Amino acid sequence: MYLDPVCKSNLKEVQVKATYTYKGETYQFCCESCRDHFSNDPKKHIGRNWWQRFLYRLAESNAEEFEGNKPTCH
Ligand SMILES: [Zn+2]
Repeated sequence: MYLDPVCKSNLKEVQVKATYTYKGETYQFCCESCRDHFSNDPKKHIGRNWWQRFLYRLAESNAEEFEGNKPTCH
């Protein structure tokens, strides 16, 4: 199973109609128009979710770390 990062369809191998390689990763698409969307702006379709989650978690843990316990100078 593959995930089409544009339309979020689950694709079986036989349903993959287009592929695109971006930064060493190959992505699979249900159609060429999804592939074209992706190739126009790959960043819009990948990474965003986990990256945002990562940034959010980072911000959260920084807040925890610094809020009640302000960094002190040594
Ligand atoms: Zn698609």
